[in-house]
Amino acid sequence: MVGSRLPPFAPSIQETIVRMMYSGRSRLERNKKMNRRRFLLVASAAGLVVRPAAVPAAGQKPAILGGKAVRSEPFPSWPKFDSREEEAILNTLRSGKWFRGWGENVNRFEKAYAELMGARHCLATANGTSALLTSLSALGVGPGDEVILPPYTFVACVNVILLLHALPVFVDTDPETFQMDAQKVEAAISEHTRAIMPVHLGGSAVDVDAILAIARKHKLPVVEDACQAPLAEWRSRKVGTFGDTGCFSFQASKNLSSGEGGAILSENEELIAKCYTFHNNSRGRKVDSYDFSYRARGANLRMTEFQAALLMAQMTRLEEQSRTREQNARYLTSLLREIPGILSARMYDGCTRNAYHLYMFRYQKEQFANLPRAAFLKALRAEGIPASGGYASLNKEPFIRNTLDSRGYQSIYGKERIKRWEQTNDCPENDRLCEEAVWLTQNMLLGSRHDMEQIAEAVRKIQVHATELERV
Ligand SMILES: *Cc1c(COP(=O)(O)O)cnc(C)c1O
Repeated sequence: MVGSRLPPFAPSIQETIVRMMYSGRSRLERNKKMNRRRFLLVASAAGLVVRPAAVPAAGQKPAILGGKAVRSEPFPSWPKFDSREEEAILNTLRSGKWFRGWGENVNRFEKAYAELMGARHCLATANGTSALLTSLSALGVGPGDEVILPPYTFVACVNVILLLHALPVFVDTDPETFQMDAQKVEAAISEHTRAIMPVHLGGSAVDVDAILAIARKHKLPVVEDACQAPLAEWRSRKVGTFGDTGCFSFQASKNLSSGEGGAILSENEELIAKCYTFHNNSRGRKVDSYDFSYRARGANLRMTEFQAALLMAQMTRLEEQSRTREQNARYLTSLLREIPGILSARMYDGCTRNAYHLYMFRYQKEQFANLPRAAFLKALRAEGIPASGGYASLNKEPFIRNTLDSRGYQSIYGKERIKRWEQTNDCPENDRLCEEAVWLTQNMLLGSRHDMEQIAEAVRKIQVHATELERV
């Protein structure tokens, strides 16, 4: 009676058993002879191995209707730290070397991160946005150019393109994987395309093979956004090492964090030197402080010695945390697979490791008595499972349109080209995904298998009571 992996079974049997487990007007309650022990026997005879602790008292109402929540304890907190981080920060403080030009922490981190990722070069940056901006700028992206990107991503991706006065060209999402649909990239390429920016969303991988093949065919550089995917792999090689550059974020919510922080990986020495110059106020890597010669346009997007010190300490935890996330995510997928209307994000075959920055699934309300996603999320949160609906349709954000209507954009592109952009800016699969998606954050995967069981249990409980909830 202990295991809790639910084997596949017919929906009708499942429905009956789930109703017996949760419904206030269940057969279990009506049939006085059928005690809990007998119920468990029946359930296991039907092919359902029930974990006793996961079976709530009969008649339990959803928490949002005043019942007892599935879970009352919080999920694991984030970030994790101990004396390793305290020492690293204090040592940096006491050294008085807070800037990368005076200390060695950033240099050390760059070396260690390149080694961990299997990359030749690494440049640390102030944050992930800087890493993307620096990459595009070093590749020469500018006014008049187009950059291909997915709409299912963080706003920074489109912002860096707009900051360089280039045009973002959105490629629709593959709803099964939540990743940019590589099969639709080629159709988005024009004579103006200057770069492709795929995103390894949620810690999973885009179809790297397909994207690299298209990029090679059209001789286009690739900037991989691996901000959510440190340690994720494509055919056993780390993502972020396939493109001309690979960009990472160490912002507070990310799997490897220093509050803010970022990095660029590259195999190309000339390109990473250009990146260095751009991020270091137009000055190259090996100049003494008396050298005021400038090489190219740039900004100050440097990482501090404090960030690097923190990252070196956090890196000692990354592998183990990633393993825990992956194991829990796999288990959660096996539990959610048994719930009709819950479709966990699929991984492409080439994705040999998922960093699980997010656990993502699609919620199909038809299987929940048409309960709207917002109500499902609210009910789930009431059960003690914090979940969000994730991104809205980025390509339809009014600020993008407003930017293209600005004086600068109008003078670069003209009315006709902006109009054509608008006519082709359509990602229907993504729009649907934005209405169906449900996200759990990476810290929720750092606990126990029991946590995963409670997530699945809460989802089931809501499904069984969906008709009552609709009226909330
Ligand atoms: C976090 C993130 C960024 C931006 O990184 P910051 O460090 O917050 O600037 C870019 N792209 C994706 C996909 C991200 O998740």
